[in-house]
Amino acid sequence: MKYCKRCGYPENHPLHLTFDDEGVCSGCRVHEEKDELDWHDRGEKLGRILNAFRSDTGDNYDCVVPVSGARDSYFIVDTIKRVYGMNPLLVTYNRHFNTERGIRNLAYLCTLTDCDHMQMVISPATVKKITRETLHRMGSMYWHVLAGQTVYPVQTAVRFKIPLIVWGAHQGTDQVGMFSHTDEVEMTRKYRLEHDLMGFEAEDLVGGVEGLSEDDLRPFFYPLTQEIAKTGVRGIYLNNYIRWDSKAQHEKMLDRYGYETAAQSRTFDTYNDVDCQHYSGLHDRVKFLKWGFGKALDHGVREIRLKRMTRLEAIDHVATYQDVAPADKEKFLKWMDMTENDFDRCIDKFRDPAIWERDAKGKGDWSLKDSLINHRDDDGVKEAALDKIEDCQFQITPSKNPDANEDEYKILQRGFVDGHAQKGLRDGPEGKK
Ligand SMILES: [Zn+2]
Repeated sequence: MKYCKRCGYPENHPLHLTFDDEGVCSGCRVHEEKDELDWHDRGEKLGRILNAFRSDTGDNYDCVVPVSGARDSYFIVDTIKRVYGMNPLLVTYNRHFNTERGIRNLAYLCTLTDCDHMQMVISPATVKKITRETLHRMGSMYWHVLAGQTVYPVQTAVRFKIPLIVWGAHQGTDQVGMFSHTDEVEMTRKYRLEHDLMGFEAEDLVGGVEGLSEDDLRPFFYPLTQEIAKTGVRGIYLNNYIRWDSKAQHEKMLDRYGYETAAQSRTFDTYNDVDCQHYSGLHDRVKFLKWGFGKALDHGVREIRLKRMTRLEAIDHVATYQDVAPADKEKFLKWMDMTENDFDRCIDKFRDPAIWERDAKGKGDWSLKDSLINHRDDDGVKEAALDKIEDCQFQITPSKNPDANEDEYKILQRGFVDGHAQKGLRDGPEGKK
């Protein structure tokens, strides 16, 4: 396997990478733009784009902002509402695997930023049926989350005639350098289908082994092109206009709003995905079983490029976390009413043969053909390295509810917290226009 001489990403990255003649990947090269572009200028450009979407009559929201109880949500809403003075409608697809902490984070977000919020909750029976189907078809326990969180904002924008959706970072740009920041790539149905949905639209899942009906899948249907065109819905990504640094952004939100963080089972990052029981646990283990790497590498790559970690330090993290057994597997299997054997069989079908092999004529144990861990001192690694300028420390905050059971799924909650009406953004935005 070929590994990037700078960040360590492998050539079988599911979003696809290219390598230059120094063995440095496209993700690293596009990332260099973060230190080259004039971000003040780009921030002003963002202001001009947002201004064009302000509701003149004041009788509608200015934009839709997809949020969750983690992952840059605070930063995006803070930027849109406090810095740029927009009036966003927040929307959430309820993934069903919520942590109590994530629900608190979301409730505090809506309350402290004084935003209206809508939530889509699909019935658990339907979610389980769909998840069984997607495990069989693509080895994914998360398709319904990816589909829901990328379609519900678009449906809402069309339904309420709000022509702008504001997303955080575009993964294709930030992880693998699929686009330059200056391409200002926007949301497309094609990217969603090919990458977020692993090639399966909701319509493709009708029938199948689970006998899913159109009614089961209708909540995940993408609005018709004519409907989108009628409202003129566009989706922009903030990382094209703001120098994206998820760690630094989370730390600002921690100070400003008391965002809650937590230790994660399979990565050193304590800021992302604290709202989900599985994303950094079983779901990440599945990612590893498919591609031979997990979130610990994603997070290491990000920190290498932002000059807070060396490649060797990142490799040490990979070695520490990649074999950690996910403690949440049993909980998921119980909820799905599925045996461990069935689950494992679904995943094994989708192991990438470029990195995994099986002994005893395809019936025995699986083993990795290679690993980044074997490529610590490859030729060219020293030449490709960036100078580290900062240490990489992640904070763990105290819980706002120390008595809560953080190990159970939490589905429905009121969604706001009392006693904060006079604080937060009720006092008015900074209003950059
Ligand atoms: Zn790289």
